[in-house]
Amino acid sequence: MKKLIQGIIDFRLNLADENRALFTKLAKGQKPDALFIACSDSRVVPNLFASTNPGDLFVLRNIGNLIPPTTSSHQDNSSLAVVEFAVHTLNVADIIICGHSDCGAMQALVKGIDADCCPHLDSWLKFGEESLSKFRSGFTVDPSLTELNQISQVNVLQQMEHISSYPFIHERIKNQKLRVHGWWFDIAKADVYCYESEQNQFILIDEKEGKLILERL
Ligand SMILES: [Zn+2]
Repeated sequence: MKKLIQGIIDFRLNLADENRALFTKLAKGQKPDALFIACSDSRVVPNLFASTNPGDLFVLRNIGNLIPPTTSSHQDNSSLAVVEFAVHTLNVADIIICGHSDCGAMQALVKGIDADCCPHLDSWLKFGEESLSKFRSGFTVDPSLTELNQISQVNVLQQMEHISSYPFIHERIKNQKLRVHGWWFDIAKADVYCYESEQNQFILIDEKEGKLILERL
């Protein structure tokens, strides 16, 4: 908490005029480029690794970057409200689902958790169970990774399927008004990868891959 308060004091003192002007402009409204769906993990910092400014990303964070599938009998209004607002009101053209290495949610999926102390967490993780069963039935993207990281990558693809299962999302994808991307953040290397379906691989977003992604937009 001490670091947090000191951070706010430093922010006030060091805020450059250009950033102050940006906030003044943003007060009139937002027009973010994308909806970014990431895990709540404190080590995942989209604004830092994507060098984005305030106003660039509309963000949904939850345990395991999960999206309840449309077929689920247990819905989560909070997550879906974010998706609906981003798509219907902000009209974002891109949704990024970003998993990460050494994800505690994936570990909890594998090991299970104490439902007596954490009933909500236990219930929430059900939206990741398909990822785990796919992996256990032999599906993976990069077998060279640890089991946990393989599950995390499979989970990104599973959640892309979940979000695309909503008719309002599916319709926009079909009409080329919306794209859903799968990204993966390697914490130890601070590298970001993008899933390329043709190669069935997560490719490092360096200058070359970045250029390819931009050419497709
Ligand atoms: Zn995580």
